[in-house]
Amino acid sequence: MHQRSAHRSLLVVGSVAYDDIDGPFGFHKNLLGGSASFIARAASYFTKNVAIVGVVGDDFEQHHLDELAALGVDVSGVEHATGETFHWTGKYSADLSSRETLDTKLGVFGSFAPKVQDKHRDAQLVLLGNIDPPLQMDVLNQVRAPALVAMDTMNLWIDIKRKELEAVISKVHTLMVNDEEARQLAQEHNLRTAATKILAMGPTSVIIKRGDAGALLFHADGVFAAPAMPLSDVKDPTGAGDSFAGGLMGYLAYAGDLSPKTIRTAMVMGSVMGSFAVEKFSVDGLRDLTAARIQKRFDEISSLVEFDRVQL
Ligand code: AMP
Repeated sequence: MHQRSAHRSLLVVGSVAYDDIDGPFGFHKNLLGGSASFIARAASYFTKNVAIVGVVGDDFEQHHLDELAALGVDVSGVEHATGETFHWTGKYSADLSSRETLDTKLGVFGSFAPKVQDKHRDAQLVLLGNIDPPLQMDVLNQVRAPALVAMDTMNLWIDIKRKELEAVISKVHTLMVNDEEARQLAQEHNLRTAATKILAMGPTSVIIKRGDAGALLFHADGVFAAPAMPLSDVKDPTGAGDSFAGGLMGYLAYAGDLSPKTIRTAMVMGSVMGSFAVEKFSVDGLRDLTAARIQKRFDEISSLVEFDRVQL
């Protein structure tokens, strides 16, 4: 069943954005952001078979896309439209544990209709990054027979597009959300019960990201926990969830199978890539990583939970 195959292809739809970030380390303007920017960069360390579908405006600096292309990411599905690039402004609390959206300027995203090119319709892995649910559905309708479709979302869509969001959730294999979003979506405070309620909406697994408390995978057979790396220097949590998703899906593409064991390893790889992302602003924490650094952090995270089993 779960044979190793050639590297699987990963198709990502998501935002490509400029972010303004306020927080304990000051106000930073026009940083490269967007779910697809983090996902593709994180995944590019594991597979050269990543393609993005997205849109940028005429203010977007081409070198950002050139950099992704140099990492082997296929950016031919990023449309160049007339108008401004999606622009998000967020503010973090002093301890970086929470954030609020101060402003969202849709720009060219407002009239975006994602087009999946024929060469990408057979992608085996599909990641619907956090964007307007009808756009996620559009992409889902254009791919042929993916082995795994995972999706992310955010509080905004739960608030204003619940019906459309639930329609997408009912069609994917895996929903990835943070704990606050899981609670809001399920209207349930207890995370385990929230996960059960989300699974009843259709997906076969739900991944709940809990920042520096790690991530939980819930599915019919039980729960798996991936720890987060305790870091001494956290600068900007923006994109942590997307980098987690990119690491996870990128690793699945690299491994070439979807066995329960591989999925557990992929969860830890998600945690590894999320940990790099938060150490610097924008995508800087994901720049210039090496296989050796990724391996080292993977080993460090693994050793956090190494212990002998007991038989009492
Ligand atoms: P994360 O910290 O992983 O949740 O992702 C943060 C990224 O999501 C930022 O770089 C934003 O540009 C992007 N983002 C924020 N709000 C939206 C939205 N409504 N639609 C699409 N992307 C968004």
